[in-house]
Amino acid sequence: MERSTIVRVHEGLHARPATRFVKLAKSFESNIELVKGEKSVSAKSSVKLMLLGVKENEEVTVRAEGADAIEAIEALIGYLENPRSGLEEDGQEARQKPKAPAVPAPGATSPADGRLKGVGASEGVALGLAYPYFPEEIKPENRKLSPDETEAELARFRDAVATVQKRMDASLAADGLAESDRGIIAALKDIAADETLTEETISLIRGGMDAVTAVFAAASKVATEFGEMDDPYLNARADDVHAVGRQLCLALLGREEGSLEDIPDGAILIAEDIGAWDLARAPLKRIAGVICGHGGATSHVAIIARAHGIPAVLGLGVEIGRLRAVKHIALDGGTGEVFPEPDSETTAHFEARIRTADEERAALKVFRDVVPKRPDGTVIEVAANLGSLEEIEAAQDAGAMGVGLFRTELLFMRHMHLPSEDMQTEIYSTLAKAFAPHPVIVRTLDVGGDKPVAGVDFPDEENPFLGWRGIRMCLDRPDIFKPQLRALLRAAVHGPLKVMLPMVSELSEVVRTQALIDECEAELRTEGKDYRRFELGVMIETPAAVLIAPMLAKEVAFFSIGTNDLTQYVMAADRLNPTVASLNDVTNPAVMAAIQMTAKAGVEAGIMVGMCGEAAGRPDLIPEFIRMGLTELSMSPASIQRAKKCIAEFR
Ligand code: PEP
Ligand code: MG
Repeated sequence: MERSTIVRVHEGLHARPATRFVKLAKSFESNIELVKGEKSVSAKSSVKLMLLGVKENEEVTVRAEGADAIEAIEALIGYLENPRSGLEEDGQEARQKPKAPAVPAPGATSPADGRLKGVGASEGVALGLAYPYFPEEIKPENRKLSPDETEAELARFRDAVATVQKRMDASLAADGLAESDRGIIAALKDIAADETLTEETISLIRGGMDAVTAVFAAASKVATEFGEMDDPYLNARADDVHAVGRQLCLALLGREEGSLEDIPDGAILIAEDIGAWDLARAPLKRIAGVICGHGGATSHVAIIARAHGIPAVLGLGVEIGRLRAVKHIALDGGTGEVFPEPDSETTAHFEARIRTADEERAALKVFRDVVPKRPDGTVIEVAANLGSLEEIEAAQDAGAMGVGLFRTELLFMRHMHLPSEDMQTEIYSTLAKAFAPHPVIVRTLDVGGDKPVAGVDFPDEENPFLGWRGIRMCLDRPDIFKPQLRALLRAAVHGPLKVMLPMVSELSEVVRTQALIDECEAELRTEGKDYRRFELGVMIETPAAVLIAPMLAKEVAFFSIGTNDLTQYVMAADRLNPTVASLNDVTNPAVMAAIQMTAKAGVEAGIMVGMCGEAAGRPDLIPEFIRMGLTELSMSPASIQRAKKCIAEFR
């Protein structure tokens, strides 16, 4: 018995919708297959189903044989015809960013006294227990089984599958597990139990291969199939298969994975590399410091560390390997120095500095509610840079006068699907309400090939930083850009919300965005939805934008200087590459001249000029920026009180 239909499930049967479909299929006794074109697969295997690559609007056939075939077909066809199938609980699910390949950074140096030097990425000093986080490499055993060993090896493998399932169930049952983590673990658990992986492994063991090697080979085969599909989201499932393969191997070897969840209070995290999203989900309150082989001062890991006031040294390069076994460690996030196993003198020195820093922080609290002004009475807005609603409290506690940069990337990166217009409206509205009457500046989506997002097919690029990113990508994808603009128009009803565009390099990008905003407004009007036109500004972060700043100033309501990118583009020095860290210096006269030119163009046109790059929080530069005419500085919450003090003392 069979029935055909057109799939209406949003974005087709990948990941969550596929696993839900399988769950539904498994609730029937019948043998069920899903047929697409010439291919048919068991409807009870999510991996096989995902590999079938069923997309929205494609025709498929559900074939069932058994006592409950009619009911099964009815239910499964109903599922396939519902656009929201599998999405209902997806709102909070996360998608892990694939890790960048390990590239040794030769920038780090190690003076003779054992101290190491990397890039000072988040200032402050820390001293504590080291928490090396180097997931162990597992190698295939490459053992040939004798025929009488096969059954025992199969039993060992089945035990390992059960152990992994149990470990995952235990994680799912843990108190306080974020919904985002729950989604990831549930998806991995599905793969671990899936017949595709287990059948392949079992057949290899029967062929005489030891279980660890068999899991390796089976996982590689399935991962390669995912990697070859023409859907970037399904490509990313290859990482999930490898992750499950790794868990199975660990269980076979009787080992367990370390986790950031276990990091002790006050410990210093040491890692080769850590994804921004992984760090964002870690128990940040317990982490006293971060030391990484990868990254630079303006990488997003650095930004997260600064947002939470965690001292960090990044870009240690291959030297990070020397810290795998250290027990105690000290670091200076300002100078980039790291002191493994500090002696008593160094320890005393760090303890004294930590005490002084605590005292300074306490003394700065009096500036929390200060409204800093220039000597002529002009208020200088000291605002916060935020990446998620979870950071609102820290910004308010610090005394932020609004938000000068809300990065919307995390919102897009943490979901398995593009966030809907309604979900975005809710998030931007919450933000506007939280800070009203202060302004909130939301930056439209600023992603590129280095920060992939589910649902956006990025081309392979030699230089993603010079490629299809920010406003360039958004203008080519009105299906992504317009829902964001519509959500911003709707949220602007709730407070003084402003919007700025990233990576602008041509006037036409602003003009085309304005036309899209007009279009969104007309649609909302016709639909009878509440909205308010927001002020539109641009980030000045490309040399082209600096050079046409007088022209841009006639079209927009404000400028916000993005010194992180502006520095890398003016100096032609990758902001993530520790080897060129010394060139990546905002105080270089070339970069300061670019800032000066931007300020002059904005001031002459009578529009607000602000800054949201990391330089905005530097007390050594703030007086100069104010002299140039900047009236808004937006920074990590941890820098706000010190910046207010600095402006209040400016003469
Ligand atoms: C900048 O480039 O200065 C900026 C604030 O944006 P981001 O760091 O997110 O690229
Ligand atoms: Mg930028």
